[in-house]
Amino acid sequence: MTMDPATSAPFDALAVGSEIQRRLGVKTSRDDPLGRFTTMRVGGPADLFATVRNAFELRALVRFARARTIPHLILGRGSDIVISDAGVRGLVIQCRAEGSRTDGERYTAEAGVPMARAATETQRAGLSGLEFGLAIPGSVGGAVWANAGAHESDVAGVLESARILDAAGSEAVVPAAALGLAYRDTRLKHPPADGPAELVLEATFRLTTADPEVIKARLDDIRHWRQAHQPLGLPSAGSVFRNPPGESAGRLIDAAGLKGTRIGGAVVSPKHANFIVNDQRGTAADVRQLGEHIQSVVAARHGVDLEFEIAFVGDWSAWPPSEPAAIQPPSADPPAEPTAEPTAEPAT
Ligand SMILES: Cc1cc2nc3c(=O)[nH]c(=O)nc-3n(C[C@H](O)[C@H](O)[C@H](O)COP(=O)(O)OP(=O)(O)OC[C@H]3O[C@@H](n4cnc5c(N)ncnc54)[C@H](O)[C@@H]3O)c2cc1C
Repeated sequence: MTMDPATSAPFDALAVGSEIQRRLGVKTSRDDPLGRFTTMRVGGPADLFATVRNAFELRALVRFARARTIPHLILGRGSDIVISDAGVRGLVIQCRAEGSRTDGERYTAEAGVPMARAATETQRAGLSGLEFGLAIPGSVGGAVWANAGAHESDVAGVLESARILDAAGSEAVVPAAALGLAYRDTRLKHPPADGPAELVLEATFRLTTADPEVIKARLDDIRHWRQAHQPLGLPSAGSVFRNPPGESAGRLIDAAGLKGTRIGGAVVSPKHANFIVNDQRGTAADVRQLGEHIQSVVAARHGVDLEFEIAFVGDWSAWPPSEPAAIQPPSADPPAEPTAEPTAEPAT
C-alpha cells in the first residue's frame, strides 16, 4: 500500500469509480477477488480496482488517488506478494503499461512490460544483459522495485535509469546509482511513513550487442534450469525468504526437515524448500502461517532469523488469527507438480 489507510480520508468506492471513468476514461470494478492477478492465487477483493494500459493512465490515476488521499496499491504481475484474504482497502491499480523501444544498446520499457518479454525482445534485437529476466515472472516496475535477479545477474547490473513519479507528484529520470540498488533491495521499498511511495513509470537498461543465437542459447539454459529446479507448475510467489548473508534460506529450511510441511493448501515445496506452493486452493492465511512456522522452526534449529522476501499486502489487521490452522508434517505423498507455469492472468 503506498499510503496509510489509517491517515487517509474514507472514500465512496462507487462514486470514486464513476469519477475515474468519467475524468480519466479508465474502467473500474469493485469487490473483484485479486488472487487471479497474482501467481500465488490467493487474496480477497479490492474496494476498487482499475487496470491502466499506458504510462499516461498510470500517472493520471496515481495523481488522482494522491490528490484525494485514497490509499492505493500498484500491482505488477503479482509475483512477489501475498494479498490478504480480507483484500485491499482503497484502490488497486494493475499496471499493464507495456510499451517498449530500443535505441542502439539501450532498451526502454514501461513499468508493465513482463520481464520475460523484455528478455525475448532484447534477444531478438541482438542485445545481451536481460536474459535473467526470463526467470522472473514479474513486471519491469516490480523488478526495479525489488532489484530482482537470477543466474548471477540482477537489475542493478543493467539498469541505467528509471523514470520515477515521486511523492510530490513530479516526474524525473533517476540514474540507477541513486536508487539504492542492493541485494533484493532499493529505496523504492522504503517509502516514508507519512507519504506516498515513489513509482516506476519506465526503466532504461544499458545492454551489449551480441549474436541473437548465442543469447537464445543462454535463454534456453535458463528455461531448462528453472524447469529442473523450481516448482513451476503450482502457484507460488517464488523465494519466500531472503538468503541470510553467506547462507541459503532453502538449505536451512531443507536441513530443518520442513520440505512437504503443510498448512491448509500451502506446502513447503518438496522441490525447492524456499518456495511455498499453493496446491489445494489455499488461502493467504495458510501461506502466512506456514511462512511464520518456517521462521520459528529455522530459528530454533539453526539460530537464524529468516526475513520474508515476499510482501504481505492488503488488510492484515486481523493477523494473527485467534485459532491457527493445524500444521501437517511432511507426508509420504508430496504434492503432484504439473508442468505448466502459473502466471497472473491479464485483466479482462
Ligand atoms: C516462480 C517464481 C520465480 C521467481 N523467481 C525470482 C528470481 O529468480 N529472482 C527474483 O528476484 N525474483 C523472483 N521472483 C519474484 C518476483 O517475480 C519478482 O520479485 C518480481 O520482480 C516482482 O514483480 P511483479 O511485477 O510481480 O511485482 P508485484 O508482485 O506485482 O509487486 C511487488 C511490489 O512491487 C510494487 N510495484 C509493482 N510495480 C511497481 C511500479 N511500477 N513502481 C513501484 N512499485 C511497484 C508493488 O506495489 C509491490 O509492493 C519469482 C516469483 C515466482 C512466482
